[in-house]
Amino acid sequence: MKIHFLGTCAGTEPMPGCCHLAWALDTGRGLYWFDAGEGCSRTAHLMGLDLLDVKRIFISHGHMDHVGGLGNLLWNIRKINSMKPRLDSGHRIEVYLPNLATWSGLMQLLAQTEGGFQCDYRHVPRLIADGELCRDGELRVIAHHNRHLPPAADGAWLSFSFRIEVGPRSLVYSGDIARPDDLAPLVAARPEFILLGTGSDLSRPPRALVAGLEERGIGIEPMDSRAAARAWGVLRGEGRQIAAALYPLA
Ligand SMILES: [Zn+2]
Repeated sequence: MKIHFLGTCAGTEPMPGCCHLAWALDTGRGLYWFDAGEGCSRTAHLMGLDLLDVKRIFISHGHMDHVGGLGNLLWNIRKINSMKPRLDSGHRIEVYLPNLATWSGLMQLLAQTEGGFQCDYRHVPRLIADGELCRDGELRVIAHHNRHLPPAADGAWLSFSFRIEVGPRSLVYSGDIARPDDLAPLVAARPEFILLGTGSDLSRPPRALVAGLEERGIGIEPMDSRAAARAWGVLRGEGRQIAAALYPLA
């Protein structure tokens, strides 16, 4: 299992060397895409990932820094498949979204592109709700709403976090959240403490995060991400119940 970071920047103007948020989980049996910020498919293609391996795409919420690259991702998959066909009418790409208005708007846009965006394979939009979204071999994805966005007029939640399980391994992808305890339903057990990898250098974690965790009796140990990854391996090897949150190095 590999995680490919395709963009780690959020909610701001275009920045040199950074793209909006997107990452892909490579299980060895396909790519599972989480959020689709600007340029994510271009970045992935130039990294050598095969976009025809994309099986499911999960969008946490409709803000542009999480969804702005989705149209281009779908378009690039179609383009590559038209050059070297591999996906046929039996193939489906499932796209999970918090609301289907985003999907219909995107399809209207893509219908104006080359070939009317006719594809040799199928797209299947899925509405996200709390609970298990899918099982695919060893992979299981569970969603739970967060309060980053208020609910819609009909009460439907519009922003979600995900717990992703691959065999015995699991990780939680927050997306954007309002408060740390938004993630509580997705975290199985209370860890002894959280290892926080702050990137290539050690930096102080946000005060609100430390206070929120302390309220729940969970300590936090900040260190640079390389040291945190090493400590994670050692402590988990000893069977310690710890959690880690690692920011990318760049
Ligand atoms: Zn947001």
